[in-house]
Amino acid sequence: MNINIAYLNDSFLPMEEIHISPDDRGFLFADGIYEVVRWYPGFFYDLESHMERLKKGLKKILITWKDADSFPAIAQKLIENNNLTESNALIYLQVTRGVAPRRHSFPSPAIPPTVFASAKSFTPESFDNESGIGVLPGEDIRWKKCNIKSIALLPNVLSYQSALEAGFSEFVFIRDDFFTECSHSNIFFVVDDTLYTHPESDYILSGITRKNVIRIAQKTGIKVIEEPMHKSRAEEITEIFITNTSGEITPVIRLGKNLVGDGKPGPLTRILKELFRSEICMMKGSNGKKM
Ligand code: PMP
Repeated sequence: MNINIAYLNDSFLPMEEIHISPDDRGFLFADGIYEVVRWYPGFFYDLESHMERLKKGLKKILITWKDADSFPAIAQKLIENNNLTESNALIYLQVTRGVAPRRHSFPSPAIPPTVFASAKSFTPESFDNESGIGVLPGEDIRWKKCNIKSIALLPNVLSYQSALEAGFSEFVFIRDDFFTECSHSNIFFVVDDTLYTHPESDYILSGITRKNVIRIAQKTGIKVIEEPMHKSRAEEITEIFITNTSGEITPVIRLGKNLVGDGKPGPLTRILKELFRSEICMMKGSNGKKM
């Protein structure tokens, strides 16, 4: 049997031996942030961008993790210690403001953060990913700092669950009549052969996959406009796809009760999926470096 090794505050331990205090501010206040990084057999995908987002997030919520630069080494060790080198895997990292008696104010004097990380193998979804999914639109009930990868995910959890219970695979948020993003992915629309996605702002998480899809699209000559899509334009939309670290690019064929285009993944979505995949294959040959 494989023992699941995780990381907590400078130690690598079997998961069963990881104990986190009920006074941890992550548990009490969701006072922390997280990251999810994907390991393809042989390399982490765009770890530099994940590091950049992690450091920006820590700064925004005023948590000091002085050893943040040790994260790539921690992640690598988790892959190796869990025998995941040849697998598809995800690293989960969570940094909270630390352990202190429950009081809203920051602990004073400052205390070290709680740093937890774990690794798990996963099988990339294939069926849905190829044939396309349905997404349920609804009100964006989140706060106004969605660009912080906060561990406070209750609105995302409730929205996602409502989508699943209604027979959909993701929930797309609408704020002030504009589509923003989904419960755990960014969203792209195609109108007149042009790709639209919400600009980076406080209303979306700056997804690493989003950024790379924009880069690949632009390199290929596909026009990209970073502009919010108004819900009244739904009928003009011929293709939709969502992006995230674990699913890469997933076609959307149903928006609420309406079919998108002809109800099949569209040509731009298919091209971008292929280009994303072939970049991954090339990275395999060069230890994760982008071509
Ligand atoms: N938006 C939200 C709300 C998310 O939770 C995620 C996944 N973490 C994304 C977008 C996609 O981000 P990434 O491509 O970095 O996984």
